[in-house]
Amino acid sequence: MTKTEIVKTDAEWQQELTPEQYRILRQKGTERPFTGEYYHNKAAGAYLCAACGQELFNSASKYESGSGWPSYWQPAAADAVDTRRDLSHAMIRTEVTCSRCGGHLGHLFDDGPQPTGLRYCINSAAMKFQPAGDA
Ligand code: FE
Repeated sequence: MTKTEIVKTDAEWQQELTPEQYRILRQKGTERPFTGEYYHNKAAGAYLCAACGQELFNSASKYESGSGWPSYWQPAAADAVDTRRDLSHAMIRTEVTCSRCGGHLGHLFDDGPQPTGLRYCINSAAMKFQPAGDA
């Protein structure tokens, strides 16, 4: 179910986001692997959407996937993200977007750890980390 609540023009997003955030969140770009700010982050806290602030993931379900991007085995809430078929770049993948603003976050794969077996492979630049206790 999609519940996109925040709708802004490209010009508005471009003004609010950094060029790298805009390229990923609004143009479905991907940051280079092993370069993202949060790939090695092991601190406890929440990962919020860099565009709209919705909580997307939590450190409790973050794990070391070796992929080069922050990886989680479940979202912070079932309705925090939306997924849809993505046939771009000659691959069959599942795109993950923020359910509130529609921003592109990354992709979902089925090679994650238990209990879900899922891997939400997410660009660091699409998120803002909020250390536990800072809310
Ligand atoms: Fe968002």
